[in-house]
Amino acid sequence: MTTSSNSPDVAVIGAGVFGAWIAYLLRQSGQSVALFDAHGAGHTRASSGGESRLIRMGYGDAELYTRWAAQSLTSWTALFTAKQQPLLHGTGVLWLARPDDAQMRATLVTLQRLKIQFERLDGDELVRRYPQMRLDDMAWGVLEPESGVLMARRAVQTVVDAAIALGVEYRIADVMPPTDAHWPSLATTDGERVSADTYVFACGGWLPKVFPRLLGERIILTRQEVFYFGCPAGNRNFAPPQLPAWIDFGKEVYGMPDLAGRGLKVGIDRHGPSFDPDTDDRHVSPEQLRMARDFLQLRFPSLGDAPLLETRVCQYENTSNGDFLIDRHPNYANVWLVGGGSGHGFKHGPAVGEYVAKRIVDGGPVSSRFALASKATVQQRTVF
Ligand SMILES: Cc1cc2nc3c(=O)[nH]c(=O)nc-3n(C[C@H](O)[C@H](O)[C@H](O)COP(=O)(O)OP(=O)(O)OC[C@H]3O[C@@H](n4cnc5c(N)ncnc54)[C@H](O)[C@@H]3O)c2cc1C
Repeated sequence: MTTSSNSPDVAVIGAGVFGAWIAYLLRQSGQSVALFDAHGAGHTRASSGGESRLIRMGYGDAELYTRWAAQSLTSWTALFTAKQQPLLHGTGVLWLARPDDAQMRATLVTLQRLKIQFERLDGDELVRRYPQMRLDDMAWGVLEPESGVLMARRAVQTVVDAAIALGVEYRIADVMPPTDAHWPSLATTDGERVSADTYVFACGGWLPKVFPRLLGERIILTRQEVFYFGCPAGNRNFAPPQLPAWIDFGKEVYGMPDLAGRGLKVGIDRHGPSFDPDTDDRHVSPEQLRMARDFLQLRFPSLGDAPLLETRVCQYENTSNGDFLIDRHPNYANVWLVGGGSGHGFKHGPAVGEYVAKRIVDGGPVSSRFALASKATVQQRTVF
């Protein structure tokens, strides 16, 4: 058995958006860091491996996530500017609200309180502004003009490249969880030893496999499907700035305009069946394709028969209510568990990274919102 070339202050296991930002910000604060991923940053089976992810500020009355989204938008923008990578599209994000929409009303209050820019659009204004959509059944909406779309896979790879440039050691390795027999170091599946003062397991949808007894019932993986439909040739009505990203909250469907020529993206946010990220097939189901097409026919009638260009199947790694998991392992005080992105985590990579890095460097408690003890085994989503 060989040992890793050095023993860094922190070993981060998982180079998805959470692990990548944690490694990068720990290094910025002076820690020596090794970052491991079983397949590589932003790979196809990782939740962060999608082409694009929304960054929006609206979170109802869950003000912490609005703050984190705003803070993260600033950090993403700074990184992309420094690295000259145009990976944020400022498309704006349009929320379509139901007539008596408590979540949207709470969102307005939070955005107002935090002085985040938004426009409230009544039904007539929605119809006037977005003629490429059918919105005559919508009572009102909210446009977040400064929000938009992150090009996810490439964004994570950019964070990892930035971390490497600062001196983070990045390795492809499948790292096994702590066991009393080998503690205080870890082993990889090919027999190498990993030794560090602190370990962060940011393993996304693999957390329940890595810690089956602790997380097997507390992080539930669901199959989520995404569709890209072709837009008419020479027609920019479905691209920004004419069309923002949108969230039809009542229908549990969201989407993005035609970015980089990929087509109009339609994603189903309703939780799908359970999913294994290693072994499950990633062809979309006829039922969800039907749902996506029904949605197109309702909201984008001129694209009702548009050709299907591409599809993606990925997993949400859901905690019971959608709050992230950020806590120390109950048996190993220097092992951190970070995940439970629950379908909305990508945008928050920088804020999660800062939160974890600060606690590793300075110590201090974690919020009860993120604590392992707050994760139930029955799904009841309250954070959207
Ligand atoms: C279809 C879909 C749409 C989404 N839309 C949005 C959106 O619009 N906006 C938004 O903010 N969020 C969105 N999300 C959620 C967001 O993508 C996730 O919350 C986020 O990417 C989770 O990142 P992560 O780092 O926790 O996990 P991952 O990206 O899955 O990364 C975990 C990494 O850990 C590695 N790993 C696991 N086990 C080991 C091990 N033992 N050894 C070494 N490496 C290991 C894996 O290989 C993987 O690379 C969406 C998710 C999906 C699936």
